[in-house]
Amino acid sequence: MVAATLLRRTPGTLSSALRLHRATAAVATPFVRSLSTHVTNAACEDYEPGFLGSVETFFDRAARISGISENSLSAIKAVDSVLSVKFPVEIDPDNHVIIEGYRAQHSRHRLPCKGGIRFSDEVDLQEVEALASLMTYKCAVVDVPFGGAKGGVKLNPKKFTPAQLERITRRYTMELCQKNFIGPGIDVPAPDVGTGPREMSWIMDTYRQFNPQDVNAAGCVTGKPISQGGVRGRNEATGLGVYYGVREFLHFPEVQKMSGLTGGIAGKTVIVQGFGNVGYWAAKFFYNNGAKIIGVGEHDVSAYDPNGLDIEALFKHRSEKGSFKGFGNAEIIDEPIKILERECDILIPAALERQIGLKNAKHIKAKIIGEAANGPITPDAHDYLVSQGKVVIPDLLLNAGGVTVSYFEWLKNLSHVRFGRMSRKWEEAGKSKLLTLVEENAGRQLTPQERRAVIHGAEEHELIYSGLEDTMIGACEETRATAALKKTDFRTAALVNAIQKISTVTTQSGQMFL
Ligand code: NAD
Repeated sequence: MVAATLLRRTPGTLSSALRLHRATAAVATPFVRSLSTHVTNAACEDYEPGFLGSVETFFDRAARISGISENSLSAIKAVDSVLSVKFPVEIDPDNHVIIEGYRAQHSRHRLPCKGGIRFSDEVDLQEVEALASLMTYKCAVVDVPFGGAKGGVKLNPKKFTPAQLERITRRYTMELCQKNFIGPGIDVPAPDVGTGPREMSWIMDTYRQFNPQDVNAAGCVTGKPISQGGVRGRNEATGLGVYYGVREFLHFPEVQKMSGLTGGIAGKTVIVQGFGNVGYWAAKFFYNNGAKIIGVGEHDVSAYDPNGLDIEALFKHRSEKGSFKGFGNAEIIDEPIKILERECDILIPAALERQIGLKNAKHIKAKIIGEAANGPITPDAHDYLVSQGKVVIPDLLLNAGGVTVSYFEWLKNLSHVRFGRMSRKWEEAGKSKLLTLVEENAGRQLTPQERRAVIHGAEEHELIYSGLEDTMIGACEETRATAALKKTDFRTAALVNAIQKISTVTTQSGQMFL
């Protein structure tokens, strides 16, 4: 119904503003102070850079030791194209509101561009550009062949009904379609803060209405429900990648030396800030693998229990009561950001950017800080933490599990077949024949359970987990190697790797249009 209404409208009647620009390579972007509200400023001094300024500061540091030419560096750093729209949406028959939305494509050195769509009151152009830049570097770090992009719609999703959100999401998608900012080979959104599988379904359905001939339409967006062409494992992918990444770092002798921690997750104390998609799944994987989750932070309050929180029970409690308040024996912290300052082995900021700045960095007691959120630490705070011997595992590496599995989902959509469908039974039959030969030679028959365990062919989610684990292990190793080679911190090392890979792609593809 909504889609039909959308299709009847002609482009000429749309009250949208399109700002498309190609950034010139030599233009240095000035420091831009974040326009965000108190939530993303509480930890930071006024003179600290905003989110985009932070990303650029980190980039510049890595650029200096990357060995790449100035021309290439400024071309890599510049945000390529930005779409800025304002459109009316009928909230109810008497009430139309003007909604503001953005999509930034930071780099098209590989296509499609890829990056989430955020629904938040705090969305602004700088935030979207910062997140799009991070996406380019993140994809390069984990060898996902995409350019970086990000989208945002400025609204608080809690203030709208599902029907209203559907109208807004479809209208925003219509803008993306009309301005050629979405498509399986152009730009592929995914979930981010405030969006999930439901919104991705609406996006795909709207894209399909505008592109009925596109046989690959399902690949225009990832993070979809399974019934809409999603892949098993995408929902938990970012949190699972965070778990794999921290586990990997804990194996490294230099990390054990810096942190004073032994290898392995079991027995470690963990605090997670943000209990949404990324925070919940990260907490769950740490918990299931023997860590003690002693604190979980949310936007209203935080919960702390030195004896450990039961993650599923906490999730159920919050779903039913709307808050951590009243949960078991947990101490409730009314100033939620203070949870970051409690003693623990591993701190996982998984909420928003700029949560650790100069105001609170000196109070952070965790030995390892794993950035599950994008941009949770400012450059000055990062330097302070590193100077104190803390291990900071950077966002562009640690939360890359989401885009890695989005890549797998996109591949599934383009191949139109579930992973494992063609090979599972074939592999099982081959392994079964081999086992029979082994049994004949060994003179002993396996029990049915033993046989089943060995011949079991991989299900889709097992293949996805395996691909994600392999990707995270590889990227952690590469980051560690560059950190050792360049004698630098892990963030700078990951960025050096990203810059060098992007530069190789752009240089080898030629300079025809520069
Ligand atoms: P989400 O909307 O599912 O969850 C965010 C959670 O943080 C919500 O529960 C929200 O209430 C909470 N929150 C908001 N402000 C807070 C505050 N000031 N203090 C504590 N909690 C607060 O979003 P998400 O998808 O989990 O994303 C979280 C972070 O991870 C973002 O930085 C996002 O860009 C990044 N990220 C997400 C993905 C993904 O696949 N979803 C991938 C990579 C990175």
